[in-house]
Amino acid sequence: MKNKKTAIIFGISGQDGAYLAHFLLNKGYHVIGTTRKKSSKNLYRIIRLDILKKVKIFKGEATNKNFCNKMLNSKINEIYYLAGQSSVTKSFDYPEISLASNTLGLLNILEVIKRKNYKTKLFYAGSGQFYGDSKKYSYNLNSKIDPRSPYGISKAAAYWLIKIFREKYNIYCCTGILFNHESSLRSDEFVTKKIINVAKKIKKNKKSKLRLGNINIYRDWGWAPEYVEAFWLMLQQKKPNDLILGTGKIYSLKQFVNEVFRLLKINKNNLEYNVEKFKRKLDIGTYRADINQTKRKINWKPKTNFKQIIYKMVNNELF
Ligand code: NDP
Repeated sequence: MKNKKTAIIFGISGQDGAYLAHFLLNKGYHVIGTTRKKSSKNLYRIIRLDILKKVKIFKGEATNKNFCNKMLNSKINEIYYLAGQSSVTKSFDYPEISLASNTLGLLNILEVIKRKNYKTKLFYAGSGQFYGDSKKYSYNLNSKIDPRSPYGISKAAAYWLIKIFREKYNIYCCTGILFNHESSLRSDEFVTKKIINVAKKIKKNKKSKLRLGNINIYRDWGWAPEYVEAFWLMLQQKKPNDLILGTGKIYSLKQFVNEVFRLLKINKNNLEYNVEKFKRKLDIGTYRADINQTKRKINWKPKTNFKQIIYKMVNNELF
């Protein structure tokens, strides 16, 4: 097809990468992706969305400069950088991997764009985790950046790099400051998925307890397929802008557990919380997105609410 746009997704195998690939294919894009492992086990989300034959996948990492040089060319219209260590917990155990994958990989790509003067647009998956901790406020672009984890630091550094390359070299690049977004394709290592997986085992009498750390943390939870649309919208604007992507509503982990237990008809006695081993040493108690500016700039707002998200996850629905 003539005039078919080309997009490359670094991190195509992840939750967001897979949904974004699916979204872009529906928009008529030619989609290329990168992964560290081309095994079907690693590409299970792409397989589940039935798009494996429709995308072109290359093995490599953006932390390797040669790989970035090889992957990028003047025909690529849009780059989505979603690859990297996405777990706050893991970032305390492997901080250098956090910094390398979330920051240095991005820098390598920005350097290629700058050096070769490519006219491509770039979206970076940032995180609200670089803000501090406040029950009172919602975070917007004027809020103080105050990371509480190596992960938060890696995302803050990347955010500033994007700003500098945009302002100094006139590159079309922007950060989506993402708050939690979930789906049935969420990795099992994340707490929401853990809750659902264990609850289903309890239901089948294969486990007796769900054991968690602090359940009085509050998060701004959205539905992942809606967020990837916002990534794309951010690259369709005349001028690049960083934007906050969240729902503006917060719920506690306790509420999340209660809703899963209610749907599966499980007794609350099956929950054990404040388990020392599962408590984070330095955690963010509450963080909520202020998406007023986002609504104005790209006319986007999330539709799927908290209860609907949990219902879809419990029932393993994709969209
Ligand atoms: P996932 O963990 O599902 O996917 C990230 C992908 O990055 C993985 O599939 C993996 O692909 C690749 N990756 C993982 N670790 C590394 C590493 N050390 N070096 C290089 N590549 C790595 O994350 P999501 O899709 O949920 O998130 C996408 C992006 O959005 C991430 O940057 C995340 O930090 C950010 N974000 C997500 C939020 C959410 O709630 N989902 C909230 C805030 C930010 P492979 O193994 O194939 O190489």
